[in-house]
Amino acid sequence: MKKSSIHAFYSNLQKQNPTPKGELYFINDYTLLVAVVLSAQATDVGVNKATLLLFKKVKSPKEMIKLGELELKKYIKTIGLFNSKAKNVISLSHMLLNEYDGQVPENREELQKLPGVGRKTANVVLNIAFGYPTIAVDTHLFRVGNRTGIAPGKTPLEVEKNFEKVTPSEFAYHAHQWLILLGRYVCKARKPDCPVCVVNKFCAFKTKTMYDI
Ligand code: SF4
Repeated sequence: MKKSSIHAFYSNLQKQNPTPKGELYFINDYTLLVAVVLSAQATDVGVNKATLLLFKKVKSPKEMIKLGELELKKYIKTIGLFNSKAKNVISLSHMLLNEYDGQVPENREELQKLPGVGRKTANVVLNIAFGYPTIAVDTHLFRVGNRTGIAPGKTPLEVEKNFEKVTPSEFAYHAHQWLILLGRYVCKARKPDCPVCVVNKFCAFKTKTMYDI
């Protein structure tokens, strides 16, 4: 995609939604981290249903450890892979308490040392909690990057690097949220809503959907 088109691409996303918000429910950096860990291969809506109650009781690593793995499982049992996620949340809470004074570290390498935290999760936390212009590539961003041609790549890391390379700095902070919302609600996997898509003009996808006439 040409440089001028990339600018217009983000400009259109910005016009439509100047201050995009993440859809995961959280109340502080710690609960954000837990929510993102729970959201792997699950929907934000499904995670929010569980965490709405969980975060009434638990707001810190100390409170999570006090709750314990068995009780935690009762709160999150509707979320996929809840057994391994419960184990990771308890382990990461111990690690935060023992090694980071109960605080979420503001650093990708340190975040990725925590159980259940990969590069994508770390990028989401760095963006939302600490304001870094990181781009977390999930299934939606991977699809959008490749379909539009703005940041093609064979792996999530390649797509992330390409997004970072081409995204103008003025759009970098919100880019992740704009792209996730675009992928989730418009550029859907099975049937993208190309006729109503605000970046349609710049998108290189060969089989865009058209209006039914
Ligand atoms: S025009 Fe269609 S394929 Fe391209 S980004 Fe928009 S919804 Fe996706």
